[in-house]
Amino acid sequence: MPEPLIVADNLVKQFPIKAGILQREVATVNAVAGVDLTIHRGETVGLVGESGCGKSTLGRTLVRLLTPTSGRVIFDGEDVTDLQGSKLKPFRRRAQIIFQDPYSSLDPRTQIGNSIAEGLRLHGVSNKDERQERVGEMLELVGLQPRHASRYPHEFSGGQRQRIGLARALILKPDFVVADEPVSALDVSVQAQVLNLLKELQQELDLTLLFVAHNLAVVEHMSDRVAVMYLGRVVEITDREHLYANPLHPYTEALLSAIPMPDPDRPRNRQILQGEVPSPIDPPSGCYFHPRCPIAVEGLCDVVDPELIPSSTNPAHRAACHVRCPSPARL
Ligand code: SF4
Repeated sequence: MPEPLIVADNLVKQFPIKAGILQREVATVNAVAGVDLTIHRGETVGLVGESGCGKSTLGRTLVRLLTPTSGRVIFDGEDVTDLQGSKLKPFRRRAQIIFQDPYSSLDPRTQIGNSIAEGLRLHGVSNKDERQERVGEMLELVGLQPRHASRYPHEFSGGQRQRIGLARALILKPDFVVADEPVSALDVSVQAQVLNLLKELQQELDLTLLFVAHNLAVVEHMSDRVAVMYLGRVVEITDREHLYANPLHPYTEALLSAIPMPDPDRPRNRQILQGEVPSPIDPPSGCYFHPRCPIAVEGLCDVVDPELIPSSTNPAHRAACHVRCPSPARL
């Protein structure tokens, strides 16, 4: 197994809700509620969960667009949790993010060549010719033409704009990239093209990737391992094959059963989740999933918070579930 590149150590990110003239804090949104996650060099980890489960916040906290409330972010052996200002700059160069909506992340009045070159300028590449050359190379790498550098975002299709987003994130040759739902704003017909491109670039540039998505079908194509998130916590993590063949957590089962099948006549055990995702302002007691869980055990699941425990048959497959992955202490 390659060495870890980025580690989330009991990472917590909360957002205060303020109200009144004095802007007193009246509640807290627990967006990321104690996540441990290790991503190894060259690996792609898929991060999946419903909207609002905290997966984008976790991605943004890992690349330090957000400062964690507590816990640590370790990058290449260095604690980057509290770095600010100029001390954060070397890390920024090595850790980048691709945003969901390429249109809103590009300035409509800036030529795309300048948008792509922005990172180079900020990181001290002052020679204009060199910047132009690097932008041209990057555009070719993502399947566009160097002459496109002088065009504006509105002159491109959604898929092309996401290619520009990839060029912008990769121009500094980062080691680690968070792809935050990079295809969910795109037409289905171009999603596969962008995913294939991202996979090719990942291999060619030896990137370590956290691929955030809200459905397991997209993640399967991309990931070595998959982590499933629910209400700010990772509830299951394992390699791709095990997750899709043998999910342990009832929430993962429900997500898997929601993937559309090419053959509608093939029998399947479709599970419809009851109710809404609870509010991260006031999460349920015990297992956060218990109000929606079809196999919840009264008196246990609503009381005791399950830990992420390795399964008895595969230590690399971990799930937070009293029933499917009981703690050895409870057996
Ligand atoms: Fe369901 Fe209980 Fe497992 Fe939570 S711990 S997923 S409520 S069975």
